[in-house]
Amino acid sequence: MEHKLLTGNIAPEGISVRMHGLPEDLWVLRGQARLFDSFEQAADALESGQLQKGCVLVVPSPLSSKAAVRYNKAFASSGLDKLMCTLTDASSAEKITAGGVLAYQNDVQHINLIREGDVLCYDADAGCIYLDIGEDGMEARLSGDGSPIVTTCLGKGTWALLTRYARMFLAEGDDKALLIDAGFPVPNLLETLRKLTGKPIELALTHGHGDHCGNAGLFGCVSIHEKDAPLFLSSMPQPGYLGEVRPLTGGQVFDLGGRSIRAIHVPGHTHGSCAFYDQAAGLLFSGDCIGTGPIIAFLEPSDIGELYSSFRRVKEECTNLQAIFSGHGTLRLKDSAGLLDDLIACADDILQGTARGIGTCVTRNQQSCKTYKSGKGAIYWQAK
Ligand SMILES: [Zn+2]
Repeated sequence: MEHKLLTGNIAPEGISVRMHGLPEDLWVLRGQARLFDSFEQAADALESGQLQKGCVLVVPSPLSSKAAVRYNKAFASSGLDKLMCTLTDASSAEKITAGGVLAYQNDVQHINLIREGDVLCYDADAGCIYLDIGEDGMEARLSGDGSPIVTTCLGKGTWALLTRYARMFLAEGDDKALLIDAGFPVPNLLETLRKLTGKPIELALTHGHGDHCGNAGLFGCVSIHEKDAPLFLSSMPQPGYLGEVRPLTGGQVFDLGGRSIRAIHVPGHTHGSCAFYDQAAGLLFSGDCIGTGPIIAFLEPSDIGELYSSFRRVKEECTNLQAIFSGHGTLRLKDSAGLLDDLIACADDILQGTARGIGTCVTRNQQSCKTYKSGKGAIYWQAK
């Protein structure tokens, strides 16, 4: 038995456990969850002896090989490698060799509802994993009540903030900062942002879906593409958005002082989707237009033809692309050019009618679609 699937309240779709790496003492565990923003931070805690046996260290991607080596070393020399487990994103899992490793596949699961000190239980034989907070506790967290925000520093002046479902990104210049997307509603967003920057913060949205604009009401002004403004306004909970909506059309530049970020119109997921591009640093914040999770192109108002053109536009316009940061799924997409080529091929196959969809995914509103794949590129689509 190589891998085993664990399911439960934090992972309805399952977390995979690498059984051959899991010491027998760790097959069943009931322990404290310890949350870290990075593997460096977790290695610090291991080295300074802050951790005790029976913990589950919850550490998200991204992960450099250097950080993995350091983490593995710190883990082995802590003497705890048969006594503690790591819960991490699947993209990091292969690099972690010390201790047991539980890996999760995507952020539709409720990993980000775990809080520091929660009691986390799993049983590899029984195939279950759950947070011991009761049904009410889980309900409260799922409804966004006090959900924590997981913050990841992506480099100087750039952060990812994850609430439930979708990420936000903060990019800081010399004079001000730009918040890209406003996530699922959480009570403490401004507090978290203030810890990261003291500069004025402007808000721009990649598109109008509710999981990307939930905290927009905290800002007096929001920039969004004119075609997604109505979707945004209808996604906002009562009493609606009361501030100023600045319409984008693509091409607008946000001058943050010594750093500029340009809006690129990338319709397809929605008609008014925008990506935000920092040409000097080579970073693209792609919202739901580009990512490794299948791109959703079957829900109204998606359009596969628009999506195909948007992939091509990004490839042509972003001449210094180093990394793509998407709203869901894998945080840092490294081989951006390769992924773009795969997505272009995938959309092209669908448009030509030569692609064969696999499986059927049915959403909550009973809409169904198929998954189309080409290399690493994947698109959810349904013939009309
Ligand atoms: Zn969306």
